[in-house]
Amino acid sequence: MNIHEYQSKAILRDFGIPVAPGIAISDPREAIAAVCELKGSLFAVKAQIHAGGRGKGTFKEPEAGEGGGVRLAHSREEVEAHARQMLGHTLVTLQTGAAGRKVKRLYIEAASPIEKEFYLALLVDRTAGRIAFVASTEGGVSIEEVAKNTPEKIATFSVDPATGAMPHHGRALASALHLSGDAGRQAEKLATRLYTAFVDKDMALLEINPLILSKDGRLVCLDAKIAFDDNALFRHPELAALRDEAEEDPREVEAAKHDLSYIALQGTIGCMVNGAGLAMATMDIIKLYGAEPANFLDVGGGATKEKVAAAFKIITADAHVKGILVNIFGGIMKCDVIAEGVIAAVKEMGLKVPLVVRLEGTNVELGKALIARSGFNVIAAEDLDDAAQKIVAAVSKR
Ligand code: GDP
Ligand code: MG
Repeated sequence: MNIHEYQSKAILRDFGIPVAPGIAISDPREAIAAVCELKGSLFAVKAQIHAGGRGKGTFKEPEAGEGGGVRLAHSREEVEAHARQMLGHTLVTLQTGAAGRKVKRLYIEAASPIEKEFYLALLVDRTAGRIAFVASTEGGVSIEEVAKNTPEKIATFSVDPATGAMPHHGRALASALHLSGDAGRQAEKLATRLYTAFVDKDMALLEINPLILSKDGRLVCLDAKIAFDDNALFRHPELAALRDEAEEDPREVEAAKHDLSYIALQGTIGCMVNGAGLAMATMDIIKLYGAEPANFLDVGGGATKEKVAAAFKIITADAHVKGILVNIFGGIMKCDVIAEGVIAAVKEMGLKVPLVVRLEGTNVELGKALIARSGFNVIAAEDLDDAAQKIVAAVSKR
């Protein structure tokens, strides 16, 4: 689960991590009051969407003015003018795709004059089985560019979970950022606090880009992106309120309600598969035959007819889907349950695109018989290879 920058910063603040004072608003009429409360003479007006690259983004509507999704303002009036321009308009960044995202909320922050920008992230290093720090003196820019052009400028080190963050990790961070003296000590404290926040809240990613050294010598987290580990959300009822479903893919929101492992993709072939490995293989083979999957979907081992039907409905309702491939290897999952779920969904939703079904394993004959008896226009397939070729051919004909 992702959250907005202003929510991330509130969490960091609770852990004693330095962030600037700020107020989130959703109506330009709130801008003046926010600025009065913040004081100061320089403000950052920041679009709150679940996507990065806002600073370099552009708005679709001309009324939103020339600037991107992060604008500096020197007066109350300027903050209000930016708020009027930005709110309700569509921001397009490298991460939003061409459709962009409607800006419904802004974060007004007391802006800091910047001496130097750094990159800092904590993430789960799966190879090491540890939480790792990734730090670079090259902040504020895309870290992917740094990794490509000057990888030597990125330092990483991981933390032994048995000890947690130790003073030497703090020194490693200070050294990676070339900070000494007072700034170095601030970096040391920051390392421990970020690690504590990461572990306490079961984060999957905590990215600060940029972390800055202000002109008056303070380290401040100027941007903050947090992603939580969904599998640990049950331990954090306090985080549920931070979810912004409007920022999430509606298909994924619906899938989550049915406890389905579903990820929306850009292709045209909807896939219903059981088992994550088989789902990956199905996506690969669709690509091999020259098409693109519209989703990853693992209906799981113990799915009921209702769950299968819900999954099939999500795929059917997706306007991008030009064909559906059901690929089931029944082990714990029974082929007849899949067949019943698919039939129930088709009865309710209709079937407007070609459907290829490949069933194998437990109760396969029963499953095939149910589908045959349903009278639906289903293309039967023998194996995965055959199934992939058939669905790609059927879609390319349309
Ligand atoms: P992103 O583009 O979505 O990553 O949004 P950021 O929060 O990282 O802001 C983009 C850029 O705007 C930063 O890299 C800074 O250069 C600039 N910026 C953001 N906040 C401030 C601020 O308080 N003061 C100054 N001077 N620049 C800021
Ligand atoms: Mg940023």
